[in-house]
Amino acid sequence: MTDSPWPAPPQGTCGLPPALEVEVAILGAGIHGAALARELTLRGVSCALVDRGEVGGGTSQWSSQLLHGGIRYMLTGDIRQMREGLAERATWARIAPHRCRWEAFWMPHRFGLEGLAHRIGIGLYDHWGAERPGWPPALHLGHVPRAAFEADPRSIQGPFRGATAYADLMTWDRELTRDLAASSGALRLDFHEPEGFEDAGASLKALRLRDRRDGTARRLAARRWVFALGPWTDGAMAQWFGESRKRLRLSSGIHLWFDAVPGCERPWAIRRPKGRILFVIPRDGMLQVGTTEREVDDGWVPILEAERAELFEALGACLPAIPWRSLPVRAEELGVRPLVAAGGVTTHLSREAVLERHARFQNLTLVLGGKLTTARALMDHLATDLTGIRCEASRTEPLRLWDGQPAEIR
Ligand SMILES: Cc1cc2nc3c(=O)[nH]c(=O)nc-3n(C[C@H](O)[C@H](O)[C@H](O)COP(=O)(O)OP(=O)(O)OC[C@H]3O[C@@H](n4cnc5c(N)ncnc54)[C@H](O)[C@@H]3O)c2cc1C
Repeated sequence: MTDSPWPAPPQGTCGLPPALEVEVAILGAGIHGAALARELTLRGVSCALVDRGEVGGGTSQWSSQLLHGGIRYMLTGDIRQMREGLAERATWARIAPHRCRWEAFWMPHRFGLEGLAHRIGIGLYDHWGAERPGWPPALHLGHVPRAAFEADPRSIQGPFRGATAYADLMTWDRELTRDLAASSGALRLDFHEPEGFEDAGASLKALRLRDRRDGTARRLAARRWVFALGPWTDGAMAQWFGESRKRLRLSSGIHLWFDAVPGCERPWAIRRPKGRILFVIPRDGMLQVGTTEREVDDGWVPILEAERAELFEALGACLPAIPWRSLPVRAEELGVRPLVAAGGVTTHLSREAVLERHARFQNLTLVLGGKLTTARALMDHLATDLTGIRCEASRTEPLRLWDGQPAEIR
């Protein structure tokens, strides 16, 4: 792991004292770390949220920004993951309505039988996902009327004959992560570099940190530790504890952002080979297109020309009436998915999450894999496990907005 790819910290200071003590120290302020901080706060347990960068500055700002059941699990047959995602989708719509927008996604089909299969699959998806708090009645699901389909420039000259609409929830991933952090009373130690751990043989005791903004040294003591380091987990475990075992396989995905294309009003989810989906999503006055899958070996990797070319090729083949290659790409981003390497082999499409109790340090848990959609539920489960306290409010208590201010020491 090199330091260079990490964004430089902003100006300023942290204001926290040099010695800190909490019940639970969380390393990694992505969606998992931030969600756990909220869960612990709801249970009245003190915690600290440590990150080398900014809150929500890792994978949790480069996702496709969908809180979803995963329509493609209908194809891969992973119904359990799908139903879990659908249930969680409703929870997010309840606790973070300000960060959620329901949409009717169109899934186009090439021929009649495929359309029938989509209608059956989507019918089940929307039946199992019928709990949709705040659903706008103007959005229509199921068969897309021919006139509406033909009015969309994506239907012109392409291979598709019609479409079926299904429901899913769009979000703003980095802002959602920040709201979770803001909804916690965690000591916020962002832009802090972990420099070394103190342990007592079978348990971690404290962490020495350096504030990357002004060089201040701090010591954080905790009874329990959770590492939610996303795709950087293996690198950190090697650096801190000399562990060579790979817990994750990493898969990059890119998105391209174009100016809005007139007439492209609904998001499209286009089935591609190997159970993959090409999303073409109008949002925030632009058109977001993604995503790809390439196995990589670090959380920071550049976008390859081949990845761009793959997206352009798919766009050209599926939606030929739009002159994609002459449209300026306004922004592009790459995120790295942390996929669990179950028994050393990652199931290509699995987005399963694992909570690993560390073999040597019994007070350390690692969060491996996962998705935005299921992060709250997974961290609810972990917080119950760590504290012995169940918390119904986790599923109902509205999130607070991120205000950028550090939480006060309690
Ligand atoms: C292209 C793409 C599309 C996706 N689309 C979706 C989607 O539509 N819906 C969905 O539900 N999920 C989606 N996902 C999955 C989802 O984005 C991730 O699973 C999730 O964001 C991972 O969150 P995390 O908290 O585990 O990791 P991260 O968000 O990566 O958080 C880890 C944190 O650890 C910090 N860190 C790293 N190393 C150190 C260190 N040494 N010391 C201190 N801090 C450190 C990082 O700065 C980072 O903030 C997508 C992922 C990708 C890549």
